[in-house]
Amino acid sequence: MRDQNQGAKKSVEKIAVVELREQYRTLRGEIRVALDEVLESQQFILGPQGALLEEELAAYCDTRHAVGLANGTDALTLSLAACGVGPGDEVIVPAFTFVASATAIVRLGARPVFADIDPATFNLRPEEIEARRTERTIAVMPVHLYGLPAEMDTINELAARNGLTVVEDNAQAIGARYRGRRTGSLGAACGISFYPTKNLGAYGDAGMMVTNSEEIATKIRCLRDHGQTGKYVSSEAGWNSRLDEIQAAVLRVKLRHLDDWTMTRQAHARRYDKLLSGLAGLSLPRAAPHKEHIYHLYTVRIEGKAGRRDRVRDLLAARGISTGVYYPVPLHLQPLYSGGRDRRGEFPMAEQASEQVLSLPIFPELSDDRMGRVAEALQDALRETD
Ligand SMILES: *Cc1c(COP(=O)(O)O)cnc(C)c1O
Repeated sequence: MRDQNQGAKKSVEKIAVVELREQYRTLRGEIRVALDEVLESQQFILGPQGALLEEELAAYCDTRHAVGLANGTDALTLSLAACGVGPGDEVIVPAFTFVASATAIVRLGARPVFADIDPATFNLRPEEIEARRTERTIAVMPVHLYGLPAEMDTINELAARNGLTVVEDNAQAIGARYRGRRTGSLGAACGISFYPTKNLGAYGDAGMMVTNSEEIATKIRCLRDHGQTGKYVSSEAGWNSRLDEIQAAVLRVKLRHLDDWTMTRQAHARRYDKLLSGLAGLSLPRAAPHKEHIYHLYTVRIEGKAGRRDRVRDLLAARGISTGVYYPVPLHLQPLYSGGRDRRGEFPMAEQASEQVLSLPIFPELSDDRMGRVAEALQDALRETD
């Protein structure tokens, strides 16, 4: 046995797209103290940790209010509901996003109306708002995909001109800035996800909505707790969607580190930019002077023949490097939304993105060494698939 082991090829260290254990190792002490406090209090729902997190997160996002919820999808759903979206209404949403952006709309009996994306940013193409709106459209949901803010000035201007409410899907971009202002503070209401792999991740499901409107915040506090306006007084059918004290305690610890992590992600992105610049068939994520990217994901585009992205992906996997494809199927081609029709060709930029995007490993603890390995493997894979 020993001989066999010695003869075996030196196994290469695997590199994951996102790795959470290293972060936990550095936070373990702080987290355990925070959890202990909750356990000793035996107060688990709507307690002091949640209230403090709401205050801290509102301050972080430059908004007047924050309301803790069970997950990011509920944060979007309840935000839309509080903005008056209901049965029969239409909400414009990009065709290229996580399916939850649209599910939040469907849950209210409303209809998601898909819009194409800007190929340079993967975000909603603002011009689509006027092209897609009908008399039934009442809201638009830009998604700050991968951590890059959508073009919010133009979106807000077009929304205002057409009488639409803007609800931001900020699940992937907490802390990003658009013209100096934090994402989440740019629309009427905003949903944030604390899914464990998000930049600010809980140890389970959790989410929050932020807003500058007292009316919307009050409405959501009622909706998240069975529509109760007083103790055991319900004025409408609500949800059970509350952020629990355990998650709030974890998130309060992590929030203190978020800016450091974001800066490290940005430094990693600059390193990738440098290592990967000028390669044919590869296009890199693009921030802009007025849009700060927080690199929830570092997503490149693999251009070229059909199927090349998947071949590149396989070659990287063979060298122990995991990558992600967010998202391989645009929403209009999901069985849920295609209604059995062949909708290919309706949103060409969304379709092209779904065939070309590849997200490289990025998380704060990723070492320069491992980034070097990723870049080298990607260069080789591009050469091999040329
Ligand atoms: C993660 C995510 C959501 C949903 O958040 P959950 O907390 O998982 O419910 C919604 N939209 C986008 C773009 C996301 O990435």
